[in-house]
Amino acid sequence: MAEYVKIFDTTLRDGEEAPGFGLTPDQKFEMAQQLARLGVDVLEAGFPAASPEEFATVKRIANEVRGPIIAALAPPVEAEIDRVWEAIKGAERARIHTFLTGADVHQQGAMQRERARARAVATVTHARSLTEDVEFSPIDATRSDWAYVAELFEAVIDAGATTVNIPDTCGFAQPDELAAMVAYMRAHVSNIQRATLSVHCHNDLGLAVANSLAAIKAGARQVHSCMNGIGERAGNAALEELVMALSVRRDQHAVEHRVNLEQLLPTSTLLQQFTGVTVQPNKAIVGQNAFARDKNGLHGEAMLDDARTYGIHSGRDMLRARLEELGLLLTQDELNYAFAGYMSLTDFKSEVSDADLVQIAQNGRRAADGVFDAIGHVYR
Ligand code: MN
Repeated sequence: MAEYVKIFDTTLRDGEEAPGFGLTPDQKFEMAQQLARLGVDVLEAGFPAASPEEFATVKRIANEVRGPIIAALAPPVEAEIDRVWEAIKGAERARIHTFLTGADVHQQGAMQRERARARAVATVTHARSLTEDVEFSPIDATRSDWAYVAELFEAVIDAGATTVNIPDTCGFAQPDELAAMVAYMRAHVSNIQRATLSVHCHNDLGLAVANSLAAIKAGARQVHSCMNGIGERAGNAALEELVMALSVRRDQHAVEHRVNLEQLLPTSTLLQQFTGVTVQPNKAIVGQNAFARDKNGLHGEAMLDDARTYGIHSGRDMLRARLEELGLLLTQDELNYAFAGYMSLTDFKSEVSDADLVQIAQNGRRAADGVFDAIGHVYR
């Protein structure tokens, strides 16, 4: 049986925290419902400590949204863990996500490290007394001492953490480096098989998705991500790019995911509407140009429709589907000629209009009749 990588969505926490991406409570709730339709494994609903309004929104999501595990972030203080639990305890499955600050994770002194580890253990132990599902994140782990991070992971797993997460908080890691860190944790954390190893990548160097994929190859089985790659500064790993890479290059990534690809575009569009922030036209997977009806556009639509049919055949199927939408029903023979004409046209025309498609269909029919070639030249 193929292994799964869990998609941990933090659009409503890390993404929504970023300036310019704020959502109203109702929008957050509607977005959470859409993310459940998308099929994310874990939905981080927010940071209840941020405000009473945020607390109420997280509680509403936990009480009403079904499907994903509902997670919420809690500072490493027992009273805060209790408060987060109040917010999420109505969920089908509730995850407490706690952390150590970057300052704690960067400690060099043995005494300070021991104090930070003790706090992490106490926090996780308390969280585990409330729910069976606890995730631990040492902030800025990629820029700290890996051996110390490994010690922290071992201690919190012993205390009951079920997921240990490596945050690349500042988007600093390189793909091979993060893969090496994942491998290091698998090799040096003696109880790592009792927890899911996760990564949280930021895109400051444009590597969030590449880093996440490298981590998966190295054995990570959960990745944090945000729809449209939103998030602070350059954002988080883009969910749509991650899952499409996993689907299209299944040959490279021997893991499955549970995201419904056909819900990627509706989710992306809803988020753009709510935030008022439109993705760049050439954004991978969900950008407008990825849907232009040119050679690449068909490829993009085909990828979204069904990654497995990616390729020349899907291009032909997409052309057939588009022509059918225009009321043009072609025989297989006519379609083959039309597709050849279509491919030729896209060699010198970047946008193919509906009028072009009508012409392409007519030429395909005539070519099948032996009057024209597919591009429309009269045979002489
Ligand atoms: Mn982050």
